[in-house]
Amino acid sequence: MAEKTALITGILGQDGGYLAKLLLAKGYKVYGLVRRHTNPNFSNTDYLGITSKIEFVAGDMTDESSLMQVVRNTRPDEVYNLAAQSFVGASWQQSKLTTEVNALGVLYLLNAIKLFSPTAKFYQASTSEMFGNSSEGDYCTEQTPFHPESPYAIAKLYAYWMTNNFKESYGMFCVNGILFNHESPIRGREFVTRKISDGVARIKLGSQNKISLGNLDTKRDWGFAGDHVEAMWMMLQQEEPDNYIVATGETYSIKDFLKEAFNYVGIEDWEKYVIIDPRFKRPTDIKCLRGDYSKAKEKLGWEPRTSFKNLVKMMVDADIERLSQAKAPVQESKF
Ligand code: NAP
Repeated sequence: MAEKTALITGILGQDGGYLAKLLLAKGYKVYGLVRRHTNPNFSNTDYLGITSKIEFVAGDMTDESSLMQVVRNTRPDEVYNLAAQSFVGASWQQSKLTTEVNALGVLYLLNAIKLFSPTAKFYQASTSEMFGNSSEGDYCTEQTPFHPESPYAIAKLYAYWMTNNFKESYGMFCVNGILFNHESPIRGREFVTRKISDGVARIKLGSQNKISLGNLDTKRDWGFAGDHVEAMWMMLQQEEPDNYIVATGETYSIKDFLKEAFNYVGIEDWEKYVIIDPRFKRPTDIKCLRGDYSKAKEKLGWEPRTSFKNLVKMMVDADIERLSQAKAPVQESKF
């Protein structure tokens, strides 16, 4: 059988790396969309040992013609749209950019696929943030009404509906994976879990003495990115396109994450290392997000495999190792 080809946007991000690794292991030819940078950062694909196995193609989600050229030149069997301005906190300061990349960019990409590779299967990285606080206390299912609470979530909701619309209007194979938070040793360093694992590693190694955070009571359903990308691939192997929630079904607070990470390195009195900084509080905050992944379990046979405890341990271990080996000091996150 001919080798399958996949185009992944956002290849240099967290999920792009784990998904590329999975697809390469399955024998796919992987094209990865990268936007222009003066100094492109391949640290995630280097960390996963796959940089030389990916064919990188140049394009930007805000530039429709570049996406047209990429799809025309690669003619992929599967397209995974993972590119985004993905940091909710930044979406209030950069709401126009967030909308251009996360909403309009998806329309441009869908148009390019419709024109140049209409039988390609399309995966859109949708998010639990689209639910907002509408589900407080309960589990969110695929039927839970959306109530986005940030420019990020609003842009993602546009993309969610546009993905459904291309499926319904043109009969294209388009799916939304509604993923709850997922983390890993290559999570961006401005995200709270990585900020904690990085901060705890620095405190343990004696190069930092405080971690500055916003609201410690916020609760999330945190899974491991390596588990969640498997569900993305499974969605595109189905006969019929459909939307699925991918989650662990468990919630933990930021305080729980802190306790777990500090206790793991043998620090019990963790409170004295944490500063609450109002700069990190958001104009609106979602108090609790928890997903019901029964549909993914039943139809895809997908289940999360990594526990919260092991996720925290994996991230702290990786940061301790990285910082211990760094030849030049790695700057802590400023966001
Ligand atoms: P990430 O690490 O921030 O990666 C996002 C990638 O998008 C980056 O590589 C970035 O490129 C790229 N990108 C941004 N703007 C672009 C543009 N204009 N053109 C082309 N590429 C652009 O995000 P992630 O955690 O892997 O998440 C993957 C996707 O899943 C995102 O769409 C995110 O919103 C969504 N999602 C994530 C989670 C989660 O918990 N991680 C949960 C639900 C949904 P550069 O490397 O050049 O900056």
